[in-house]
Parts: sequence; structure tokens; C-alpha cells
Amino acid sequence: MDINIVKAAEVLQSATYAIALTGAGISTESGIPDFRSKGGLWEKYDPSEYATIQAFTSDPEKVWRMLFDMSDITHNARPNPGHEALAELERVGVLKHIITQNIDNLHQEAGSRNVIEYHGNASRLECLNCGAKYPRKQFAAAIIGERVVPRCTKCGSILKPSVIFFGEMIPQEALFRSQEAAHQADAVLVVGTSAVVYPAAGIPLIAKQHNAVIIEFNTENTGLTEYATDIFILGMAGTTLPELVEQMRIP
Ligand code: NAD
Ligand code: ZN
Repeated sequence: MDINIVKAAEVLQSATYAIALTGAGISTESGIPDFRSKGGLWEKYDPSEYATIQAFTSDPEKVWRMLFDMSDITHNARPNPGHEALAELERVGVLKHIITQNIDNLHQEAGSRNVIEYHGNASRLECLNCGAKYPRKQFAAAIIGERVVPRCTKCGSILKPSVIFFGEMIPQEALFRSQEAAHQADAVLVVGTSAVVYPAAGIPLIAKQHNAVIIEFNTENTGLTEYATDIFILGMAGTTLPELVEQMRIP
């Protein structure tokens, strides 16, 4: 067992308010590539061209070509042991919130209840014209099989996934709740995020200013590792998080 996992387990056993910040890296083992993976979706579609709100409003059909490809990758994705370990930590009362930058709904599917969706959730669709909201599964056949752009049944406009595109504001409630959690936290698990996209990347820093212990899980060093991280656990989150849970000997 990695000595850092033993240390992290000790910290969590005495913590009263642990939170987690997760990024794309926790879902790579579920088959969803992060921004850095070689040969991934993001080599084909430049996010600065396809994932901006301006791109969506000016040419939603072009953006949906990327969303169709993305849907092919994500629609079969299931939570992995990393998501399940975090759900277990919440179940036993150790973890109070997960703040996720992911839009894949996998924390919720793993059983986590207190999830702050920082960048929205692709399992919902919304109409920018009339405000109607729909569960994505209502359009699943059209999106996955037929590749038909989903349209609002009330006004006919092309629907947008309820995710935050570049150039959009983080939802006020998510911002507020995550700031509050960061102030209260005495331990933060930072999992699978390169911690470069603000304001999410600021959450561990706020917590650190309030003396929280920062425990980072990643396959490589990040911008946080050197100057903010207290305990760095190197490896795949789908292995290291379950090891942490095991080390805590939760009944
Ligand atoms: P990122 O791609 O910038 O960084 C991913 C990080 O995870 C890297 O530091 C990488 O080293 C690490 N990593 C990869 N596989 C790992 C594993 N198995 N275990 C542990 N660490 C691993 O992602 P980000 O920091 O989340 O920021 C990118 C933005 O992209 C976010 O805003 C997010 O909304 C969006 N995004 C989301 C998804 C998703 O919903 N699954 C996928 C891609 C991108
Ligand atoms: Zn509408």
C-alpha cells in the first residue's frame, strides 16, 4: 500500500467536513477521454471552435455534429470503481459534497447524492428560445441512432445540452454552494483534474487558505501539486480511490 494512501486515510478519519473536486480524469476509466488523451475527441474537435456558446448560437447543427460523436462515446459509459469509492465515502458520512466539472452524470449513477454540477449535466437538454427543459433520454434514439438534431416540442428550436459552454457563466447556485463548501472543508480530495480551468481550480486554494488538507489523485503532476497539494497519490483513480476506502476499513 502506498504510504500516501495510509496518510490520506488518517486525514479523512479525523476530518469533519471532507469534500471532493473531480474532473475528466475520474471518467477516463469509464471510456470517456479527457482533454489530454491522445487520439481523443478533442483532437478532432477544437473546443475553442466547437464548445463555445457563440458556436452554438450561430451554428447549432455544426456543434451537434460534435455532440453526436460525443454521444456515441458516452451513452454506454458506466461509473467505475473510482466513482463508486466516492459514493461510498459519502454514504458513510465522510464526504459532504462532490463538486464535479464533469457533465457525464456518472457520480449520480454511482449513487452520490450531494453533487454540485459546476459545468452542468448532459443528461438534460434545454431550449434557449423558450426555456423548456427535457430529459435527454426522451431524444436518445434520435441522437444516438438517427443523428437527428433534437428540437423543442413547444417552439421548434434546436435544443442545447444543459452544459456550460465556454463563454457561459457557471450556474450561480453551483458557484455559491461550492464556495461555501470550500470555506467549510477541512480536507479536499482533488481527483483527475488538471486544475487549470477557473473558477473550479480555485476551490482547493480557497480551502487551503482555511487550513484544509489537500489530497490529490492523478496520474501526473498538475499545477496544484507543487504549491497546494499536501498528499499526492499517484495512479489511476479507479484503483487508488478504492484502495483509500479499503484502508479506512469502513464497516
Ligand atoms: P483535463 O482533461 O484538463 O484533465 C484531466 C486530468 O485527469 C489530467 O490531469 C490527467 O492527468 C488526469 N487523469 C487522467 N486519467 C486519470 C485517471 N485514470 N486517474 C487519475 N487521474 C487521471 O480535465 P478537467 O481538469 O476536468 O478540465 C477539463 C474540462 O473538460 C472540464 O471543464 C470538464 O467539464 C470538461 N470535460 C468533461 C468530461 C466528462 O464529463 N467526463 C470529459 C472531458 C472534458
Ligand atoms: Zn422552445
